Amino acid sequence: MLTRRLASPLRPALHRSRQWALWLLGGAYLLFAAVTALLDPPGAFPAAYQTPKFWMAGVFVLTLLGAALAPRHIRRVGVGAFVLLTPLLWLEAWRMVSLGLQPAELTLWAAALAGVAPLLLGSAWGGAAVLTVLAGLGLVLLEGPPLSPGLLAAWVSGGLATAALAGVSFVAARLIEANLALHEQASAQLQAARFDGLTRVLCRAATEEELLDRLRHALETRTPLSAVMCDIDHFKAVNDRYGHPAGDEVLRGVAKRLRRTVRGSGGLVGRWGGEEFLILLPGLAKPEAHALAERLRQAVAASPVAGLPVTASLGVASFRPPDDTADALLARADQALYAAKRSGRNRVES
Ligand code: GH3
Ligand code: MG
Ligand code: MG
Repeated sequence: MLTRRLASPLRPALHRSRQWALWLLGGAYLLFAAVTALLDPPGAFPAAYQTPKFWMAGVFVLTLLGAALAPRHIRRVGVGAFVLLTPLLWLEAWRMVSLGLQPAELTLWAAALAGVAPLLLGSAWGGAAVLTVLAGLGLVLLEGPPLSPGLLAAWVSGGLATAALAGVSFVAARLIEANLALHEQASAQLQAARFDGLTRVLCRAATEEELLDRLRHALETRTPLSAVMCDIDHFKAVNDRYGHPAGDEVLRGVAKRLRRTVRGSGGLVGRWGGEEFLILLPGLAKPEAHALAERLRQAVAASPVAGLPVTASLGVASFRPPDDTADALLARADQALYAAKRSGRNRVES
């Protein structure tokens, strides 16, 4: 419920690694196609270039374009590239087997693709992509014309190297994914620990932490900061008369109203103790904070909370730079709260 799923800070790092993997693989293949075409021109352009090898270069041009235009969707771009490259790899393999050519180049690129796939597509999809490529190559060897023992050995060693590289990459991708999941779980637990289990507002420790942070920020940016101490009136009587569970319901209801009223103002609500809440209002000086506290008071008193008439008293204090401290600020908010209690409760004092 409270454990909002937080994207781990490692996620952008994984995204960047995927982008790099795609750029490096695509760039290297395009360089390979260009350099080999220059060193050993296949013949007249364009007819001689209509081979799977150069079609694959075309796919990489599209892939890199896709990566440049949609950098946030690098995984989808990667999937698109694999869908187009796989049949081209098979076609090229078929052509080479038919012509009895050495498979060195092809198996090298198949291995490079297999090495990148689990990182780029995730271990599950990457693993599936590699198995598909290998299964196709196996079929080509089985169904194609018979090969000399030397050529067959070259194909088999290429296939095994591809499988080994894919396996290593798969294991590494699994490790990255497991780390990421663990990290996200830990962040979610840390986040949950910041909240009070009953009222879903910040717990005492997190409220203190926020108070110190906000004070520092107010001092540095010379902006105002106010604190409101809010205490439910005659709460002990609620427990005594209606029981502890009813008291808990009232606490929950009051906290919800405080949260809703503060929402949009940049304010924070924390449970300071039993039936006492501390509301931090960064950016608000005394008059605005007093007005907001008045709205908080009205929000609590407006209608029965958990079926019971409930009111609260509130004390407002504002940060006095440069020598003010958190303790002094809280003490002033407490004094104002007790002034509100003394003057009849269901009041705001500052
Ligand atoms: P006042 O108007 O002066 O604030 O009176 P009060 O009765 O609200 O103040 P007091 O401090 O005497 O009572 C607070 C009560 O809050 C006592 C305690 O039993 C109750 N309380 C503290 N935490 C919880 C909680 O988590 N659940 C419930 N149900 N009651 C709690
Ligand atoms: Mg009270
Ligand atoms: Mg109290």
